[in-house]
Amino acid sequence: MSIQRTLSIIKPDGVAKNLVGEILGRFEKNGLRIAGTRMQWLSQQEAEGFYAVHSERPFFGELVEYMTSGPVVISVLEGEDAISRNRELMGATNPAEAAPGTIRADFADSIGVNTVHGSDAEETAAVEVAYFFRSTELCARG
Ligand code: ATP
Ligand code: MG
Repeated sequence: MSIQRTLSIIKPDGVAKNLVGEILGRFEKNGLRIAGTRMQWLSQQEAEGFYAVHSERPFFGELVEYMTSGPVVISVLEGEDAISRNRELMGATNPAEAAPGTIRADFADSIGVNTVHGSDAEETAAVEVAYFFRSTELCARG
């Protein structure tokens, strides 16, 4: 067990469904602290850069179009095993396979429109946090 930071994004469908407080509340109730957060409407370039690892996948164009379709809420979550804890709260990528009570099971529309993003490993978390936040914008509370 160790204190980690992870990047969370409430995707455009989550913001459009007015779920910002609900989703951030789930994080806070489950041992994660918000070290920094802001709402932002991603440009095409920002979304393409963020999802660059998926640039060869057939769904890349659709993914970028969706991620730029409305504002998102980008947060850094901090706490014990924050990366896996956040992924557990999110549930599987495809809401049809997500465990009951997870964010995606409760709110996602489809494998593409799936309400939240969360970093999947320590290395990607570090890259993703730095993609959106300067260290001075984050407040350690551990
Ligand atoms: P995220 O990275 O957003 O947290 P994830 O790690 O569960 O999700 P990835 O495999 O990294 O899933 O895919 C990134 C995102 O691309 C997914 O969250 C989803 O929005 C989209 N995506 C993944 N697979 C598909 C697919 N088969 N069809 C359409 N969109 C997809
Ligand atoms: Mg991923």
